[in-house]
Amino acid sequence: MAVQRGRQFFQNPGPTNIPDRVLRAIDRPAIDFMTPEFRTLAGDCAAGLRRIFKTESPILVFASSGHGAWEAALVNLFSPGDKVLVLESGYFSLNWGRIGEVLGLKVETVPGDWRQGVDPGAVEARLREDRAGEIKAVLLVHNETSTGVANRCAEVRRAIDRAGHPALFLVDVISALGCLDFRMDEWQVDVVVGGSQKGLMLPVGMSFTAISPKALKATETARLPRIYWDWRRFLTGRDQTSYSGTAPVHLFFGLKEALAMLEEEGLEQVFARHERLAEATRRAVRAWRQNNGPEIFAGDPRVQSNSVTAVLMPEGHDAEAVRRICLERFNVSLGGGLDRLNGRVFRIGHMGDLNEPMLLGALAAVEMAFGLAGVPHGKGGVDAAMEYLAG
Ligand code: PLP
Repeated sequence: MAVQRGRQFFQNPGPTNIPDRVLRAIDRPAIDFMTPEFRTLAGDCAAGLRRIFKTESPILVFASSGHGAWEAALVNLFSPGDKVLVLESGYFSLNWGRIGEVLGLKVETVPGDWRQGVDPGAVEARLREDRAGEIKAVLLVHNETSTGVANRCAEVRRAIDRAGHPALFLVDVISALGCLDFRMDEWQVDVVVGGSQKGLMLPVGMSFTAISPKALKATETARLPRIYWDWRRFLTGRDQTSYSGTAPVHLFFGLKEALAMLEEEGLEQVFARHERLAEATRRAVRAWRQNNGPEIFAGDPRVQSNSVTAVLMPEGHDAEAVRRICLERFNVSLGGGLDRLNGRVFRIGHMGDLNEPMLLGALAAVEMAFGLAGVPHGKGGVDAAMEYLAG
């Protein structure tokens, strides 16, 4: 590949751009994680995380990617043969379920259309049928990063309540946290699984688990084997006082800075910025849709995600070719299609540390790549985005 100058425009839906301030905060010598200095740092981070999760419950930090916190949630709550209900909305929802299968759980899936997201009515109907109370938990991915669908988390909660079902409610907020509104306590979510490398603007390597009192009770009787992930080893009251091995001290320094940045901007303004950039992206894609061009994969405007847009290619055109041109010609990195969507969609991440010109630069590269790849499309996607952003 030719030498490239300037910054890469990094438009992946995770990992995301790491702000210089976070990089500077991490760029320092190690400290001993047994000291009061580290305990204060970790305590400040926990308090900040609780404000983002909107909860009073404890939040544990693991040195792992999101997959670790996924597994932790299952091994801490269930026993072999327990039934859990996975709400299908895309690749990530199904993969969380697959971990459960490997662990020996009975995983039932409420089938879902990947373009529409989870239907709360179908969840209610299935739970109403479960008169024997076999279903121990409902597993939802709030924001399906593979499809650009933001599932209606509060409505799923109401569906569980309408069915009068006692199942635990487990939600993956990995690509929603710090991007979309989420309210753990108000929505009575029992376990929330987050990750560091998306809306929190950190390197990958830290995962988060917020645990409600109901979930803490369930962990006492769970019989799946666990050691690295055993929540009970780490909590003293509401505080995390130990880690599985060495605490990831540098990521804590980064986390403290990232939380400060989110609070400085104000969480509501952070959500509004994500919505604005997402809407600009959607307007660009709608303009490209002319002449039978690419379209937004998420079919229902109510569930189009404000942190990532998956773009569906016209039949016979390869999303990977567009991605390759964007990267090799214009140094713009986009997300690819996962699993059955490979080659069919590419994904524009608009989450984390991002502003208008960064997004416009990426959209311009995409529009040029369509031309170079011979993909039919309407002109003026970037103009539509600019008009909206200037409005
Ligand atoms: N869940 C969602 C919604 C994700 O987007 C991802 C990763 O992109 C994961 C889970 C898995 O997280 P990780 O890649 O950090 O293990």
